[in-house]
Amino acid sequence: TKDDVKSYLMRNAFVLFTVVAVILGVILGFSLRSYKMSYREVKYFSFPGELLMRMLQMLVLPLIVSSLVTGIAALDSKASGKMGVRAVVYYMSTTIIAVLIGIIIVVIIHPGKGTKENMHREGKIVQVTAADAFLDLIRNMFPPNLVEACFKQFKTNYEKRKFKVAIPSNDTSTVTSIISNVSEAMEALTLMKEEIVPVPGSVNGVNALGLVVFSISFGLVIGSMREQGQALKDFFDSLNEAIMRLVALIMSILAVKFCNYAYKHKQDGCGTESLLCFVMLYAPLGILFLIAGKIVEMEDMGVIGGQLAMYTVTVIIGLLIHAVIVLPLLYFVITRKNPWVFIGGLIQALVTALGTSSSSATLPVTFKCLEEINGVDKRVTRFVLPVGATINMDGTALYEALAAIFIAQVNNFDLNFGQIITISITATAASIGAAGIPQAGLVTMVIVLTSVGLPTDDITLIIAVDWFLDRLRTTTNVLGDSIGAGIVEHLSRHELKNRDAEMGNSVIEE
Ligand code: ASP
Repeated sequence: TKDDVKSYLMRNAFVLFTVVAVILGVILGFSLRSYKMSYREVKYFSFPGELLMRMLQMLVLPLIVSSLVTGIAALDSKASGKMGVRAVVYYMSTTIIAVLIGIIIVVIIHPGKGTKENMHREGKIVQVTAADAFLDLIRNMFPPNLVEACFKQFKTNYEKRKFKVAIPSNDTSTVTSIISNVSEAMEALTLMKEEIVPVPGSVNGVNALGLVVFSISFGLVIGSMREQGQALKDFFDSLNEAIMRLVALIMSILAVKFCNYAYKHKQDGCGTESLLCFVMLYAPLGILFLIAGKIVEMEDMGVIGGQLAMYTVTVIIGLLIHAVIVLPLLYFVITRKNPWVFIGGLIQALVTALGTSSSSATLPVTFKCLEEINGVDKRVTRFVLPVGATINMDGTALYEALAAIFIAQVNNFDLNFGQIITISITATAASIGAAGIPQAGLVTMVIVLTSVGLPTDDITLIIAVDWFLDRLRTTTNVLGDSIGAGIVEHLSRHELKNRDAEMGNSVIEE
């Protein structure tokens, strides 16, 4: 009926707004480019977007901890063990598939024809060894001080060795942020400059990997404690619920609900309420300005010459194959459900990833989409999403392998089979180590390059297009995490049912 159509439109208003915001952002960005804004003007212009980013980031830490602890405590140790194994198998296999796609596509298309002499460079790179970065990753799994783990983490092994990199406006950097001279090299990234200083496994400077490891162990223990653990379980449950409500507020889902309500009560449409609801629809606005701001400040397209343009196209093709063919197919083969319906429910999360370039900032939205639109069991999302957002990055893995081979091509460096295997392994490790923040993948690429003796300086050849490719790989990363949650839920349905029967409740409800 007409009413059904209307309420359907209302419910999907937010998705629609988000998509419109991206389109408007692109149009606005390009039309303002001729105006040549100053650095300060760009900053002002991007401010609404910066606010959205900050609001989302604010939620990430409590969300990771509370959702992991409650998610795991809600399961018995056998069920969570099985679910964990399934998630890790999924993460590993999709990451390896992604790496292989990257390698095959870059070998076939061969974008690195010609020499690097005619390519433009940006910024400077400092050497680190793969072993150092790898040890740092493991080290970060065990934070010596939990409170400290929640703060910016810059004390790594490198710092002690005085491998400091001079990054203007950020005196606490380490060499894990190998790209020195960020202000020049990452001119395009002015908005998020401070986030470019990741430690392996960190989110936004916070040691997320360490917190994930702690939360999993803590959840397991609470889950096994029965009555004695109840108080803690209730505490984290309630914390988690409160955070999710905040997310809803920021993502304005409430506004849509409100609009629905207003609509029901005023059949002739929403009056003042609808005005209010537009005021609350902040997220699309934030995304609009994030995207427009980026386009306004980016380098002139003229700089992107032949090889780099080919490289960009190659990355896009690789990511598309993984996101549009491989992941949906995998979902279909395993669950026998329509992957496009599932992906349709994720639009807000995917667009937020595109807008923010950060899978960890997108995490709150990913939760919302999976739980509320796709109806994925909360015990699954709470468990697998925080882990996925920290370690599972298909887009980044594909990108790292592809970029490393591209750099080999422009150097006329023939890679043998062993070296290609090394690249696959290190690209996988580098994607695990990359933080879910803008352009982290570019930083961990040093691990891949050094492992086969390629010049790390050549990362500067691809920096110009990285801001754009980063958005695409972040979107792929978020898609990979989400499809993983869907698949793990399907595979774990028996354990979940058994658990329901045991507990006498169907889902964890607020
Ligand atoms: N920006 C990406 C993410 O947040 C990481 C990367 O740079 O590849 O998922």
